[in-house]
Amino acid sequence: MKIALITDYNILNTNHEINSVLSKISNLNPKTNNLKIDLLYISKQTIIKPITLEQVNEIHIYNQIEEPNNISNLIKVALHYNNIYTPDLFISCLKENQDAFIPQLASKLSIESFLNIESIKFDNETQKFNVIKPIYSGNVLGHYIVSDRAVLSFTKEKTSSKLIKVSNVPIIKYIDYTDATTLKDDIVTFEKVVPSGIKDAKFVIVCGYGVGSANNIELLKDYAKSVNAVICGTKKVIDLGWLPMNTLIGTTGQIISPDICLTIGVSGAAPLLNGIIKSKLIIAINKDKDARIFNYADYGIVGDYKDIIEKEHF
Ligand SMILES: Cc1cc2nc3c(=O)[nH]c(=O)nc-3n(C[C@H](O)[C@H](O)[C@H](O)COP(=O)(O)OP(=O)(O)OC[C@H]3O[C@@H](n4cnc5c(N)ncnc54)[C@H](O)[C@@H]3O)c2cc1C
Repeated sequence: MKIALITDYNILNTNHEINSVLSKISNLNPKTNNLKIDLLYISKQTIIKPITLEQVNEIHIYNQIEEPNNISNLIKVALHYNNIYTPDLFISCLKENQDAFIPQLASKLSIESFLNIESIKFDNETQKFNVIKPIYSGNVLGHYIVSDRAVLSFTKEKTSSKLIKVSNVPIIKYIDYTDATTLKDDIVTFEKVVPSGIKDAKFVIVCGYGVGSANNIELLKDYAKSVNAVICGTKKVIDLGWLPMNTLIGTTGQIISPDICLTIGVSGAAPLLNGIIKSKLIIAINKDKDARIFNYADYGIVGDYKDIIEKEHF
């Protein structure tokens, strides 16, 4: 079993943060699972004094790369290591860029990603990793099985002032890094996502798959303008590209609490409900009288939304 830990903390200082992450994977039983942990680090420095890090076998120093904290360099290092060693897990121990590093690396390697997990175990029977992660605003712990390989990070805790006694001194290797074309970052430019203003809106309209098309959403935007509301969508709508990602409501998107939340063609799946349940008033339009959303709405209107929203818009 192989794990790559990547860090942008200065490993020459006291390694509280790295050792804290290492202590969280100590239950993976290095001896029984033949666990090998390598630490990936970008630095121009030559390490002279011994570094102590529990469980780490080798520290791979990428000293040919400039700008250690640059996200695209961190990704390049991970991909370079992956091409040679193909680790079971990548664990991020980053001061900055953690939220960007995890999804980007997961997408490049087509592996699963888990941000801010609580703990990880290895199930000897199934030979799979089990991940425990807080969900629904931290009120519930979700248990997940990692189907194959994954990239993950742990929740950041206040570092304990208690010094962890560490004696293991890893081998230090300076990596002969070649930036092969296959490792080139395929992101051409970055575009800053403009906040959608949903968080502050008093009246929010959540469009669901039941609105039928991107074109209908354009018509609903006219309606929203006329009633001074902001338009956003469920995951199905976002996945179809009918609305941009920064308008996603729910567990994987934004949690809102407007004065009025009007849902149109939304079934009322739990991840979506989690995003709107704090609204002061929920009004739901759905043509299915048994739709789950009606159990949570203050007012429910059964019918085709096109017959209910002012006719001039359709
Ligand atoms: C890990 C995970 C995380 C997720 N996170 C999120 C999340 O953050 N946010 C989220 O939204 N989803 C999330 N989902 C997806 C979620 O489970 C649902 O699949 C999704 O919310 C359903 O979207 P919907 O209500 O638009 O579509 P559907 O479930 O397909 O519902 C469409 C509704 O429209 C109604 N309808 C159809 N035509 C009309 C009409 N003409 N007039 C009125 N009503 C009509 C139908 O009766 C139906 O109830 C997540 C799923 C997973 C597995």
